[in-house]
Amino acid sequence: MRIPEHIIEQIRHDTDIVEVISDFVALKKRGRNYLGLCPFHSEKTPSFNVLPEKGIFKCFGCGKGGDAITFIREHQKMSYVEAVKLLAERLGIALPEDAGEQSHSENNRYENAYNALRFAGNFFYKNLYGELGSDALDYVRMRGFTEETVKKFALGFAPDNFNATMTELQALGVSEEALVDAGLVGKKEETGRMYDRFRGRLMFPIQNPTGRVIGFGGRRMSDDDKSSAKYLNSPQSLVYNKSEVLYGIFQAKDALRKLEYGILVEGYADLLSVSQAGFQNVVASSGTALTKEQLRLLSRFCKRLKIVYDSDKAGVNAALRGLDLAVEEGFDVEIVRLPDGDDPDSIIQRDGADAFQHRLQTALSLVDFKGEIFREQGLLATPTGKVEAVRSMMETIAKVPDRIKRDFMIQSVAMRFALREEDLYEELTKILRRNQFSDAKERSRARAQEERQDAASDAPFETTAQAGEQAKLLRLEEKPSSEDRTNTASSATALQRSNERFPQEFTQAAQQIFPEEEELLRLALTVEGACAYMKQKMGITEEFFLTAEAKTLFIIIDEASQNGKPLETLLRLAAEGEDLHSSIAGLAIRRETPSERWRNFNVEIAEDLARVMRDCVHRVMMRTLDLELAVLHDHLKVAEIADDGDSSSVLLRQILELDTKKRDVRALLVTH
Ligand code: ATP
Ligand code: MN
Repeated sequence: MRIPEHIIEQIRHDTDIVEVISDFVALKKRGRNYLGLCPFHSEKTPSFNVLPEKGIFKCFGCGKGGDAITFIREHQKMSYVEAVKLLAERLGIALPEDAGEQSHSENNRYENAYNALRFAGNFFYKNLYGELGSDALDYVRMRGFTEETVKKFALGFAPDNFNATMTELQALGVSEEALVDAGLVGKKEETGRMYDRFRGRLMFPIQNPTGRVIGFGGRRMSDDDKSSAKYLNSPQSLVYNKSEVLYGIFQAKDALRKLEYGILVEGYADLLSVSQAGFQNVVASSGTALTKEQLRLLSRFCKRLKIVYDSDKAGVNAALRGLDLAVEEGFDVEIVRLPDGDDPDSIIQRDGADAFQHRLQTALSLVDFKGEIFREQGLLATPTGKVEAVRSMMETIAKVPDRIKRDFMIQSVAMRFALREEDLYEELTKILRRNQFSDAKERSRARAQEERQDAASDAPFETTAQAGEQAKLLRLEEKPSSEDRTNTASSATALQRSNERFPQEFTQAAQQIFPEEEELLRLALTVEGACAYMKQKMGITEEFFLTAEAKTLFIIIDEASQNGKPLETLLRLAAEGEDLHSSIAGLAIRRETPSERWRNFNVEIAEDLARVMRDCVHRVMMRTLDLELAVLHDHLKVAEIADDGDSSSVLLRQILELDTKKRDVRALLVTH
């Protein structure tokens, strides 16, 4: 049965889209709207906008947008009906009973797996205090964990037996399918027999942020027994993806929000000790090197991070890697160093909570930590080593998405290594350019691959290489002569299709806001009435800009321009405690307004100002054309490799057109 339209309408109307999306994305208020990091693509500066008054969201980075139902569908990978049901549930709106029957079984598989995990958690927990668990309980006490900690993290014990857990759960009505989906049992290849995966281990339930058990870590209880792994984790399963899991996130959630920073440790035992010592804001990357997905999960709760890894070489390397990743995801990161041979658990158990607290307080900044490591590696002793050290430092700094933070870091590198800031900026520019270039190369490689797969998708060939070859042949065969009109038409449609992908390709190619965009935005921000002029007289909307950052900034400035004085409005909002988009601060404080280019103009005079704005607009247009051209050249290369003459000639014509357009626009520029 369909859900009646008027109920869907009511759900749309009553749903607070900000509240819905806040469950998944950290949103900050910007004027009337909200802004956050897009959950649909990976980005460093936020371009995911939520407009509560319109009830919609829109990401200028990847283009995704829609209402609350769309969001739930896409984000939770649900059907339309499921998404509507979920929103109705939130609102307490009753739906006709059988609405959306069709998706039930797939849903149930997840639910059944979750149920199995919940039952297993209870079973393990009960065991710990039962007859079977006495050794495990002794072990827990020996490690110094209190009853309160055991309860808080629901530790348990899995019996040393090949089917105890399975039998217990099956008696509770859990199916074989659910046991497998939950990752609780394995299946012997040869015999097909099932067996309990966790045997004779101290069990750590792994929960998602809403508290559902999604998997387990299990520790063997004797360090003498080297025959099996010290820790065993749930396998990848329907509900457990190790790269997206942070151990302890459920217990840490509130503290992370309140304290606005997180402590990141490596191990299960580390996490328990740190939490037990009173630092609730702790999570662990247990069982995997820190991933981007884990950081994105964490960033829903806080944006500052103190990494406390082991002091051995592996730990330092893991910290260095984690540092770069976290910086890339926009975290403010500090590193806590520990004495040789220690981990957070051993420090706390031996020296106590205060000692750990002291170490947290004396955590090293990124620059200081890397500096220390370089010194220990002896790099700073020679001139070439020093160059290498500074390069590596700048590589990390180049990953910091926020320009103002970057400026501060460069200042401190300059001081620490007695270098000139100008030289560091030069190095930074080189790295940024190279990164953009390699990103672009990577993307075009991925695209070529995608196109090969598209072309091959109809034919069941063994390998992509073969398929590519085969597809090339097919295309040549189905084309009787290059004069054939239908064929030209079909290439044209194919091109049109690829043209539709342009806008997204641009924003991806141009992640770093362009100086021309910045100039225009700076004028919109700092000159009274400039934003209205751009909109009304020049027809500029956020779509005009190329980069996601510029689009977003324009929305913010436009929003704040209602009284003609955006800067004043934004500063007032900041004073009232709203976070100012740091790029806005950057736009406002940069001195060289207006730029050198227009020093002959008197920007106080409206007429000159309009010319300056038009010049900016033309410069952004040049950028757009350049990017369009780059994409066309890319496509041309692909067409040439595929020996597709029709596409090539259409592409060439388009390239010529754009070249002409570019010349026209260039002629309009104030200075060249
Ligand atoms: P403990 O204090 O209980 O000995 P630890 O956390 O100090 O544990 P480490 O050897 O430092 O143990 O490992 C850190 C983390 O790496 C562990 O908590 C666990 O998540 C993971 N790990 C370690 N050994 C293994 C293993 N054999 N298999 C899977 N994960 C492991
Ligand atoms: Mn340890």
